[in-house]
Amino acid sequence: MIDGTGWPLGKVSTVNATYQIFRNPRDMDKTENILIIDGHNDTLLRLYQADSNKLNLFFKRSDQGHIDLPRALEGGFGGGFFAMFVPAIKDHSTPPASQTSGQTTTADWDTSRGVPLDYAQKTIANMIELLRELEEEAAGEFKVVHTVEELDACLSSGAVAAIMHIEGAEAIEPDLSNLAEYYEAGLRSVGITWSRSNAFGHGVPFEYPSSPDIGPGLTKAGRNLVKSCNQLGIMIDLSHLNEKGFWEVASLSDAPLVVTHSGVHALCPASRNLTDKQLEAIADSDGLVGINFHVGFLRADGKNDPETPISDIVQHVDYVVEKIGIEHVAFGSDFDGATMPKSLGDVSGFPKLMSALEESGYSNQELKQIAHENWLRVLRESWIS
Ligand SMILES: [Zn+2]
Repeated sequence: MIDGTGWPLGKVSTVNATYQIFRNPRDMDKTENILIIDGHNDTLLRLYQADSNKLNLFFKRSDQGHIDLPRALEGGFGGGFFAMFVPAIKDHSTPPASQTSGQTTTADWDTSRGVPLDYAQKTIANMIELLRELEEEAAGEFKVVHTVEELDACLSSGAVAAIMHIEGAEAIEPDLSNLAEYYEAGLRSVGITWSRSNAFGHGVPFEYPSSPDIGPGLTKAGRNLVKSCNQLGIMIDLSHLNEKGFWEVASLSDAPLVVTHSGVHALCPASRNLTDKQLEAIADSDGLVGINFHVGFLRADGKNDPETPISDIVQHVDYVVEKIGIEHVAFGSDFDGATMPKSLGDVSGFPKLMSALEESGYSNQELKQIAHENWLRVLRESWIS
């Protein structure tokens, strides 16, 4: 891909090392040059859990995990939501595999246990620090963005943009007394819950086949969180929230409804996916769905099978386009947090997905909409304070 498009190769010297870079401003009227804003990744968690060389894991190209900066640049990843997720506290019997390999383990995704406030706050503080270190080390190639103008500038210059996102609001005080501090620190997106309950609401557990209508709606603190996010200009992400919570946000929020990384329930009846009624509500609010590439949310049989074709992602995109319109669909890969189709591989595989969409009939302008323009519109609406 790199050789084929002839993007300039170069090197950037930073405090610790010299890293290779290879992206300049791009003419996005060529489909292979369209930059992508991606609704979700768990890369910070993967780096955070590595016991050493966290920065190297991001700056040096490898085949570990799904995102590092060289692969992001190569794949046309213009930026995305970098999730800060607080994994369950492991008991002492759990082997610390994730600490040594830099890979998440199933113990991290334990939906049965909540996390205490102080532990959540400490973890999020460390992840914010890690994100800042990455930005500093990247010397302009990777930037935390706070406004649509900054995000747009990254798309123009070729720098990779990071939107700071909290996945599950456990670190936020139930009286919201530290929410403004997080905003000041750069937070621009909050997922009210991960797939577990917290002080604000109830996440949908991972079940298949299952309706997303599991458990009660938001708590009073959750309803206050929605209003405060609207006021501060923090985007609210409804991925992982159960259906009752979804409908409460739909009636309370002034902002477009956004689901950063889920799929279509009619195609794969997993609890994490969206029903047609939810899709219609998203359209009514001028909102957006980022299609999750996790194979278990794509496949009709819900199997965790990496031999899932890229065309399954295309099917989910097509469904949303036909049902509610192309202005309401985007990507929400879940890189570094889920099982990807083997043929896509990692973030450097985005051009394969773009080609598959082009082959199935999407025009260059439509691909731009899906890749980043829809995100820009929704963030412009969401980040108004
Ligand atoms: Zn998630």
